[in-house]
Amino acid sequence: SKNKGGNSSSFYDPALQTLLEKQTELETDIVRAIASDEFCAYFQPQVNTYGDVIGAEALIRWNHPQKGLIAANEFIPIAEQYGLIQKLQNIVLHDICILINELKADNIIDDSFSVSINISQSQFNSSNLKGELFSTINKFDIRAQQIKLEITESMLSSDIDYTIRQMKELIAAGFLFSIDDFGTGYSCLAYLSAFPVKELKIDKSFIDKILDSTVGFNIAQTIISLGKSLNLEVVAEGVETTEQYDLLKKMNIDAMQGYLIARPMDKEGYAKWHSANTNA
Ligand code: C2E
Ligand code: CA
Ligand code: CA
Ligand code: CA
Repeated sequence: SKNKGGNSSSFYDPALQTLLEKQTELETDIVRAIASDEFCAYFQPQVNTYGDVIGAEALIRWNHPQKGLIAANEFIPIAEQYGLIQKLQNIVLHDICILINELKADNIIDDSFSVSINISQSQFNSSNLKGELFSTINKFDIRAQQIKLEITESMLSSDIDYTIRQMKELIAAGFLFSIDDFGTGYSCLAYLSAFPVKELKIDKSFIDKILDSTVGFNIAQTIISLGKSLNLEVVAEGVETTEQYDLLKKMNIDAMQGYLIARPMDKEGYAKWHSANTNA
């Protein structure tokens, strides 16, 4: 666009400028916060329809000295963009390992219990993902089978050959895979059957609609049937009401996660919740 000086090559845009400044500020603050140990993992349980706790998802939080507890969406995209995501992943995995070992020591879980970690696109693309994961879990003597890698459905369709190789290598090393936000991407169903993926997570946007939209209900039911036919666990995310819980149970869902069961909690809160909710 032309500005007053007639210099048509100038692209100065005050709104964009402000946005960029905000992003750089946030980036600087993330770097500072990593050094000051302000990030940690919260944990949200997954339960089956018998009420057994079958797993948990680790979700990163930023305990900001001025702004309080900040949720992932507000800084993960910037961390990803500025190459800081690897450090954050290591912090989350570190917390996962500490939690697993504490729960094991208290005899609250056995080796079949797994904790999920969200793997972003750039982490998944990294040739050293396996090495990074092992360097942390080995320190804590934790087996790969106790770690479930959540990648989103949209990541399955970007570079298919690479994706397949990367998944195969991690699966061979023992890691479990879950396909997050399922239903929102366009993955080729053939790949799902080709890979020993453990789990599909139905995106919250569909769970929100199962009670009052036929389309929402049908999509959820279709994903559940697909999961059954491929022998995968199907998890519903974002379950907030007992009506949703009851309907999903009737629909034969394997597991549920959401505020109805519990909000994400810090390590100590999670350990207490888990032991209080374990059937003796
Ligand atoms: P996601 O993986 O789809 O995680 C689910 C999000 O829904 C979480 O938000 C969780 O706190 C929230 N949630 C869970 N149950 C309910 C519910 O019943 N109702 C509602 N309204 N929300 C619910 P969170 O923790 O803010 O994370 C947002 C996104 O940020 C995650 O979406 C994930 O994509 C990303 N993320 C979170 N932690 C990490 C991490 O450690 N690494 C990476 N790479 N991404 C992360
Ligand atoms: Ca997730
Ligand atoms: Ca999800
Ligand atoms: Ca989601």
